[in-house]
Parts: sequence; structure tokens; C-alpha cells
Amino acid sequence: MRAVQRVVPAPAELGLQLIGVPEGADLTLDLRLESVSEGVLVSGTVSGEVTGECARCLADIGESLTVNIQELFAYADSATDETTDEDEVGRLQDDMIDLEPTLRDAVVLALPVNPLCREDCPGLCSECGARWDDLPEDHSHEQIDPRWAKLGKLTGSSGPDEPAEPAP
Ligand SMILES: [Zn+2]
Ligand SMILES: [Zn+2]
Repeated sequence: MRAVQRVVPAPAELGLQLIGVPEGADLTLDLRLESVSEGVLVSGTVSGEVTGECARCLADIGESLTVNIQELFAYADSATDETTDEDEVGRLQDDMIDLEPTLRDAVVLALPVNPLCREDCPGLCSECGARWDDLPEDHSHEQIDPRWAKLGKLTGSSGPDEPAEPAP
């Protein structure tokens, strides 16, 4: 068994559309390589900083991520090599391990598809597009937009002289 601790630069496009590890950012590998009969079992953690954008309010997100990985890299011509597909189990290539696919799968799986700056992020005002977090509590577009008055007439929810309620 061998322990490997190494800091490597992140490969390109490690992540999802809204969140990921920037290319070249430090990825810390803390791994155990174990020799097993069929090959080398790699297990341990990969950690790094992820950056992204809140899916609701577009604020920048920066957080650290640690994921566990475990993968068998089979020897060429081992029984495992012969009985599994190439994308099921890793392969040792000339005694080298290509960790990138494993690492990529683990990191991408751990990332949220809809990242949020905080769980109850209120998002953006649908009228002016400002972040609710940046707006005063009484922020509202009531009585400002004449279109609402028209809408009020159409729905009959308010009289012509009363200010219409904006839709939630
Ligand atoms: Zn947000
Ligand atoms: Zn607004």
C-alpha cells in the first residue's frame, strides 16, 4: 500500500454549467493506492475550491468541496480486464493510472445542478432584476408601473382608481 498526497492543477471544464473548479486551480489529492490481485485500488479524497453563480440571484459562490473517490484500476489481461467494459473499471496503462475520469465523475456528481448562494436565497425582483438581498425590505413596484393598473382592470381585482396589486 502506498499513500499519495499531491496537489495538482484542475483540468479544464471540471464542473457543471453554473459551478465548477476553475481550470488550473489547486486540487489536493489524498489517496491510498493498494495493490490487489486484479490491479490497483485507489481510494481517498479530492478537495478543492469551487466557484460558481447562484442559480437564483447570480451572486458569486465560492466554497470548498471534498469528494471521496474509490476506483479499481485493473491490470491489463487480468480477469477483471477481460470481464468488464472499459468504462466500468479503470485500467492501468503502462503502469500508469489516469485519475482524471474518476476525479471528474466524483466532482461533477458532488456539485449541485442549481447552486444557491444560500439555501433560502430570495433571488431577484421580477420587476427590476435587483437582488432581493440588496433591496430594502419595503421594496415594491406598486403604483409605479401603469401596466399593473390596466391588468387590474382586466382581471377586475381592483377598481380603476385603486392601485393594482402586483402579482406575487
Ligand atoms: Zn442567491
Ligand atoms: Zn424591483
